[in-house]
Amino acid sequence: MIVKNLGVPIKSITIDLTKNCNLRCSYCFTKINEVNFQLPKIEKTMLFKIIDWFFDDEVSGSPDNLPLEINFWGGESLLAWDLILETIQYAEAKAKKTQKIVKFNGTTNGTLLTPEKFDFLFKNQIYLLVSLDGIEETHNTNRKYINGKGTFQDIMQNLFYILERFPQQPVRISLTREIAQNFFDIIFRLHTEYKINVFHYSVVVEEEWTEADFIKFEQELQKLFLYYITQKELNPNFYIHNFETLLSRENAQIIYPCGAGTSYLAITCDGSIYPCHRFNKFNDFRTWEEKETCIGHVEYGFKDNHFSKLFINSNNHIPDKCKNCSVYPKCKIGCYAINYDTNQDIYSPNSVFCTVRQIEDKVIRKFSVENKYNSLQTITKEIIEIFEYVKNKLSNEEV
Ligand code: SF4
Ligand code: SF4
Repeated sequence: MIVKNLGVPIKSITIDLTKNCNLRCSYCFTKINEVNFQLPKIEKTMLFKIIDWFFDDEVSGSPDNLPLEINFWGGESLLAWDLILETIQYAEAKAKKTQKIVKFNGTTNGTLLTPEKFDFLFKNQIYLLVSLDGIEETHNTNRKYINGKGTFQDIMQNLFYILERFPQQPVRISLTREIAQNFFDIIFRLHTEYKINVFHYSVVVEEEWTEADFIKFEQELQKLFLYYITQKELNPNFYIHNFETLLSRENAQIIYPCGAGTSYLAITCDGSIYPCHRFNKFNDFRTWEEKETCIGHVEYGFKDNHFSKLFINSNNHIPDKCKNCSVYPKCKIGCYAINYDTNQDIYSPNSVFCTVRQIEDKVIRKFSVENKYNSLQTITKEIIEIFEYVKNKLSNEEV
């Protein structure tokens, strides 16, 4: 059966403007590496249909003060620059007509974010998250052009221009085992040498992490968190999203781990709807009706089936693994898409993800007292050693 909506208003969508990408990153969850031909761009008529559908009260609810969010996604969204411009123009007109508010953001691999494009986006208060896997050596290991050449230098050339004008430009790091070994040094260098202030990271769960990797990651994270809380006082632009998310959830009740399948959806080039961008695989050519993780189509509506209801019902389901986990109130069941990719069940947490999250929480608790940036009240010999390490690093930097 097909229904008009999920029973909750959708406030944010990603649109795949193109499935093409000029990179072939080794860990890409879209599985684009398994496709050897040009993938499609969205048709303009479909793009407008998606925007019309999103602004419909049946989908996004009646006008309120919450802005509707359109995220440019792909593939590499900047390969479809003409369609970014079309989206902005059409959605802004639609917002005016429906008395809704709309804002735009997105993600890019950064290779095509030239000064001209950045200037236009910045003027319109549109900020794109740039994927950057650390310093040149770590970044170029996985993030390469189709011809195999590393992309670090090209991205940095664009980022130098951007960061001079917009110090809060965010970057997202895919936390691989290799990066975990030197995580503090990598962020430290990006922050001090390259002047990057805003970081997001997400763990790459497709790799097999060893016990030694987790131990090293914990040591690195301790240095990083200590560095973060001391430097943040001096530079308010410094922001590590993962730390801030856990800190903000210290005393706040969350219902869902994220908005996927409830307030947030991903729409692909052909109009099919997914609970989030990670559920859409580019190597799957079945129709939207046939794909298990596709929950509908903008032209027809939502499938009223078991899978599409799992997300809204996830607050009633505590997996056994989460029952005794101290992070549960701040995490719920992790990332539905990672769980599905690894265990074919959105309610079955991925063990690499869980260990990383438990380490993050442990480190934050160790250094924060009563949820304040007040680390030095809990001084132990170990903390003094880490503190000395960070201090030395900083004084070497100043020399
Ligand atoms: S860390 Fe893992 S076990 Fe703990 S709440 Fe999150 S998903 Fe559940
Ligand atoms: S399911 Fe995972 S990838 Fe998708 S929106 Fe939620 S946290 Fe992000």
